[in-house]
Amino acid sequence: MISLREKLAHVPSATARGVLNVLLPLRCMCCDTRVGSEDGLCPVCWNSMPFIEKPVCHRLGIPFSYDVGEEAWSPRAIASPPVFDRLRSVAFYEGSAQSLVLAFKFGGRRELARPMGKWMVSAGREFLSPDSLIIPVPLHWLRLLSRRFNQSAALAQVIAKECGAAYEPDLLTRHKRTRQQVGLTAKERQKNVRSAFRIAAGRSGDLDGRHVVLIDDVMTTGSTIAACTKTLLSAGASSVDVLTFALADPSRSDQEETAIL
Ligand SMILES: [Zn+2]
Repeated sequence: MISLREKLAHVPSATARGVLNVLLPLRCMCCDTRVGSEDGLCPVCWNSMPFIEKPVCHRLGIPFSYDVGEEAWSPRAIASPPVFDRLRSVAFYEGSAQSLVLAFKFGGRRELARPMGKWMVSAGREFLSPDSLIIPVPLHWLRLLSRRFNQSAALAQVIAKECGAAYEPDLLTRHKRTRQQVGLTAKERQKNVRSAFRIAAGRSGDLDGRHVVLIDDVMTTGSTIAACTKTLLSAGASSVDVLTFALADPSRSDQEETAIL
């Protein structure tokens, strides 16, 4: 459901917006505490927001403990290069980032698409361009029926609008209904999503030579992202970069990566 604040978000006059702020005080996106700015976090939630900041691995977007230059790869990327070109995420899937994703995906807080999408635009600035195709990871239509919205598509729509690129929610489709990935091992996840994705009938030519930015809310083991990327590349996309709001990093306990040049 669209909130009253969202309905009135485009009120042009500063005075009218001031009145609106008195009537509907601004709240922290995460915990509902009063805050001073729209789409903001209170100090407590801000402090528990595990932002991913540069320098990062050129391929996997995981932070380095020291600056080693723009294009350095982490040992993990060298040992097992991803099928996509680059991954960038706003934050690790912990603390406030996890609370926001859960509220957005399962708590009916659809208005979070706009601030979360704007953060993603900042995180993906190096590869987002008006010539990119912005494609969300699709849901199977049965899951779409039960959940009633695709959270990745809502984020992709905001991102495409912000960077003036084409939003393409119907190009990539999920034709196989896969089990929920939660609780599966990495191998089981890969098997679960293998051949789950297809290009929409008659549209493979639309990808020819195009740069794609694939959008998802959370990157976990990457098996879904890998399956989507392979499908897009086989259909003629020239390159695929991935942009997610959160990154669930199983090696987070190892702390930051050491760079290999
Ligand atoms: Zn808060």
